[in-house]
Amino acid sequence: MDFSLSPEILKYQEEARRWVSDVLDPLSRPLEEEERLPEELVAELKKGRFFGLTIPKEYGGQGWSVVQWLSVLEELSKAYATVRLIAHTMNGLFWRPLLYFGSEEQKKKYLPLLASGEIWAANSLTEPEAGTGKDINSKAELKGDHYVLNGHKWLITLFPGYTKLIYAFAATEGGITSFLVDLPNDGVKLKPMPKMMGCVGPRHYNVVYKDCKVPVENQLGQKGAGLDVAFGMLHLSRVSIAFCCVGLAQKCLDLAVRYAKKRVTFGKLLAKRQAVQNNLAQMATEIEAARLLAYRAAWKFDQGQDIVKEAAMAKLFAEQVVTRVSELALRIHGGVGYTQTSDLERHFRDARSYHFEEGTEEIQKLLIARYVLQ
Ligand SMILES: Cc1cc2nc3c(=O)[nH]c(=O)nc-3n(C[C@H](O)[C@H](O)[C@H](O)COP(=O)(O)OP(=O)(O)OC[C@H]3O[C@@H](n4cnc5c(N)ncnc54)[C@H](O)[C@@H]3O)c2cc1C
Repeated sequence: MDFSLSPEILKYQEEARRWVSDVLDPLSRPLEEEERLPEELVAELKKGRFFGLTIPKEYGGQGWSVVQWLSVLEELSKAYATVRLIAHTMNGLFWRPLLYFGSEEQKKKYLPLLASGEIWAANSLTEPEAGTGKDINSKAELKGDHYVLNGHKWLITLFPGYTKLIYAFAATEGGITSFLVDLPNDGVKLKPMPKMMGCVGPRHYNVVYKDCKVPVENQLGQKGAGLDVAFGMLHLSRVSIAFCCVGLAQKCLDLAVRYAKKRVTFGKLLAKRQAVQNNLAQMATEIEAARLLAYRAAWKFDQGQDIVKEAAMAKLFAEQVVTRVSELALRIHGGVGYTQTSDLERHFRDARSYHFEEGTEEIQKLLIARYVLQ
């Protein structure tokens, strides 16, 4: 396995690192408090060319491999969670179902717009009255040249004004079918969810489909094969989330190291105390292991190999690592880390979202156990 990066990608990674630490980091706390995604920040993202990196060149993207892209996503996960969510969804996730399941017309219509960041996409899968993914109550009825969708999705990551395309999943004759819903649409109502513990910036949304008309040509993939679309998208997305966890865990470790090198207790730096050193060593080792597991899954994907097991393992482990590392980093900071002046307080809250995104720990273990028990 070769995870080495070309000089071009290393330069890009370094630019992303610098932009995150010099520009994005200082903005993160005020933006979170004001629950804002300012237009200037979106312009910066487009200027930094953080959209369309993985979309094939023939559709207006830059055609990067997953290994190349995720090395940059790790950097973009170290500051404002909203930017991490945009980068993760727009590069890692929301264009691939179109490439794999879309008609040539659908690809030509949406991929170049997604590559330039002109339109953003969202995935509406989770429902309030149904559990964790597969359980879907929404319905779509075929009426002449269009479907009529009715259903309620929630917890949906979505940016009003920017999100112009939503993947929807609903029961039709023959099973769950996937649809491309263009916004605005009179049949789609967005209602903000209550403020979350972390990943605060713009809110997440309830998406209510009420007699929502979707043209037949916006069916994505075969009728009844919607779960292939939904879960096809999730495997790679789990690897992407694993890299996000690694990026945030690394940031928590960096903050803990910085603090340990300046905080003196009982006449001695924290960094000189063996108990603290033990924790730092444990954190660094776990982060490195999580990074390698995630790179391995990404590399396998780039080789065209099946990654269901590797993606679930990478996500499971990285989420556990960011949970442990953010906890230890908080302890090293002492009480001041628990105040809202501390970046760590925000990162600690953001880290908890990784338990849920792209499936919980229990769901990853269910998947992995199937392979173990084969
Ligand atoms: C920040 C954030 C962003 C999100 N963005 C999106 C989005 O853009 N689009 C979207 O569709 N969803 C999104 N979600 C929702 C997320 O995918 C779900 O919350 C997650 O998959 C869990 O599903 P659930 O909330 O329905 O929990 P439930 O399914 O109700 O699960 C509750 C608990 O029971 C456990 N459990 C459930 N079923 C089983 C089982 N069969 N065996 C063992 N244990 C089980 C779960 O692991 C969990 O611990 C987001 C969530 C968050 C927090």
